Amino acid sequence: LQTKLPKVGTTIFTVMSQLAAEHGAVNLGQGFPDFAVPKRLVDELARAMQAGHNQYAAMTGIPALRQAIATKTQRVYGHRADADSEITVTSGATEAIFNAIAAVVRPGEEVIVLDPCYDSYEPAIDLAGARAVHVPLDPRTFAPDWQCVRDAITPRTRMLMINSPHNPSGAMLSADDMRTVADLLRGSDIFLLSDEVYEHIVFDGARHESALRYPELRERAFVVSSFGKTYHCTGWKVGYCIAPPVLSAEFRKVHQYNVFCTFNPAQHAFAAMLDAEPEHYEQLGAFYQAKRDRFREQLLGTQLKPLPVPGGYFQLVDYSAVSDLDDLAFCRWLTTDKGVAAIPLSPFYETPPAGQRLARLCFAKNEATLDAAIERLQKL
Ligand code: PMP
Ligand code: GLN
Repeated sequence: LQTKLPKVGTTIFTVMSQLAAEHGAVNLGQGFPDFAVPKRLVDELARAMQAGHNQYAAMTGIPALRQAIATKTQRVYGHRADADSEITVTSGATEAIFNAIAAVVRPGEEVIVLDPCYDSYEPAIDLAGARAVHVPLDPRTFAPDWQCVRDAITPRTRMLMINSPHNPSGAMLSADDMRTVADLLRGSDIFLLSDEVYEHIVFDGARHESALRYPELRERAFVVSSFGKTYHCTGWKVGYCIAPPVLSAEFRKVHQYNVFCTFNPAQHAFAAMLDAEPEHYEQLGAFYQAKRDRFREQLLGTQLKPLPVPGGYFQLVDYSAVSDLDDLAFCRWLTTDKGVAAIPLSPFYETPPAGQRLARLCFAKNEATLDAAIERLQKL
């Protein structure tokens, strides 16, 4: 078989979760909460199933959910997306990212990604027959160098992908960054894919700069989010994409033949939840900030040095005081010998910075889980 994805193996999240299970490690690797989803959401899901919402949903998403997403988007970002022509419900953000790329990127074209970036981006670009052009973020602050992005643009560039709050670093793009992106793309036919799955997990009073806030950006953007992150249910795999009507139409051509529609009962549950409890997403930042602050305080009692975390639910740590192993070897050793699973950063890069000694720990966990991990990390 001549593989279409020669560089791809099994994703690091699966590899590390399996290793954690085999060795009984506390799993702070793969990003998922270990606490309950809101009770109301589970009740609404059960109610939807009992009410008979068990057949194919509307292809683009049930109207009530698209409407609820439109209402939330208006409340949070002051932009009214049209529920019928601009919002599509997908089976996770992963599907939305894949669809957007498949819908508008042609063979031979280029997509600019900022490294480190989420591991599903490049395979989706490769399968479109296009090429990922990797522009590194600053290795310490994870801020973009927009001049480097400008230099990477060619006549073949069809898309720029951004992700804020950023996985794995937690870095956030500022209003200045967004205005610079608008300057960069003005007059071009480059699309923007803005991965905003951690949109509600932002700290210290910061504001999430959604591409939807910027008219010049949203007119060329696919804005992607995930209910998995917002409602502690990564296994339900429900997300959505907001894009202008012309782009949504192309996006839906892929969606309808990729999955056709997304799990129907969950759509009813999210619609009810979004409308009934806007406090849930409004208070999500504070909820996670308490976890972040407690975990960082605890890390000060270890030899791991925590980097700043402006958003998201991952804590990067510098482990150079503990080990000189490369990050893949270090994360394996930490899992198998020390009983705490972490995610290395190198799988998020085309070319990892030489000598980088960083690992990613997920703090979307109960206090008991984090306490158990810290107890082990104190012994490094
Ligand atoms: N983008 C980023 C940056 C992510 O962290 C994730 C989740 N790991 C996704 C996309 C995919 O989200 P979903 O689980 O909804 O497919
Ligand atoms: N997004 C999650 C992370 O970064 C994992 C997603 C997955 O396991 N595919 O850890």
